[in-house]
Amino acid sequence: MPENDADPTVPIICPECDTETRIPISELAETLDRHNEGRHDGEEVARVDPDIADQLADLVAEDMGLL
Ligand SMILES: [Zn+2]
Repeated sequence: MPENDADPTVPIICPECDTETRIPISELAETLDRHNEGRHDGEEVARVDPDIADQLADLVAEDMGLL
């Protein structure tokens, strides 16, 4: 079953937790905030996979302040 295009997911990586998670783009900022606030004292440890961030930048990331 194909994923729908309305809510694509993006990979989030956290090198300190050694995790990679796909997050719906609509929840991206909130999820990153919550993770970094809860686990890393607000430091921006978890972030969008850099390989994907370049592509995202063309789409939405600039507006969302994620890069
Ligand atoms: Zn983490």
